[in-house]
Amino acid sequence: MTYEEGTCTERRHAMVNQLRRYGIADERVLRAFDTVPRHRFFPVSERAFAYDDAAFPIGSGQTISQPFTVAYMTAILAQRCPSGKVLEIGTGSGYQAAILDAMGYRVYTIERIEELYRRSGEVFEELGLPVQRRLGDGSLGWPEEAPFDGIVVTAAAPDVPHTLAGQLEDGGCMIIPLGGIDGQRMTVVTRKGDEFVRQSYEAFAFVPLIGREGWRDDESS
Ligand code: SAM
Repeated sequence: MTYEEGTCTERRHAMVNQLRRYGIADERVLRAFDTVPRHRFFPVSERAFAYDDAAFPIGSGQTISQPFTVAYMTAILAQRCPSGKVLEIGTGSGYQAAILDAMGYRVYTIERIEELYRRSGEVFEELGLPVQRRLGDGSLGWPEEAPFDGIVVTAAAPDVPHTLAGQLEDGGCMIIPLGGIDGQRMTVVTRKGDEFVRQSYEAFAFVPLIGREGWRDDESS
């Protein structure tokens, strides 16, 4: 099915109104959602599903997160860390990185699966987004570019990846789903000098963070 740009704009407004009804109140976040063409992060044949409030398969056993989930994480980041340099772990489709770019952050993102890294790179290029990206194990962060004002981990970890947390600026925060393979609590880890303070929020279910400071590949299925 092909997808008309006009239809997308209307459906995007409807998605933003739904996010508002679900309790996302930060106007800057809502504006970013109204700006970024989510359908461009979907294959042409699947663009009709782009504005449903649902996660969707993107290949390689991974998903583009539900819009509400992306908005929820972005709203926490915006409140705690309104500007600066942000590292995303788990580029996936590239949509969350594009939302962070639309919010005005300087965006760095890491993906471990080569096919997703390649495809998201094509979309960033088509849309002219200045996202810095890297292929590799994001549980170890991006030491050459640290420190970061914020880190957003879009895959679930069993515990805080300490190497990654160590790349936060003093006062910076990491937003990360922490828990088991089947369900996690959204957690904010704030760096205060050498201390890392945790706060837990709502329950979510993310695909696993697979890497040296995440799950082992053979633990994740
Ligand atoms: N943020 C993505 C988006 O907007 O489409 C959705 C992310 S998807 C829920 C989780 C992603 O994390 C997958 O693409 C997966 O391959 C990636 N991932 C898992 N472990 C990783 C790691 N150690 N380093 C980098 N990426 C990882």
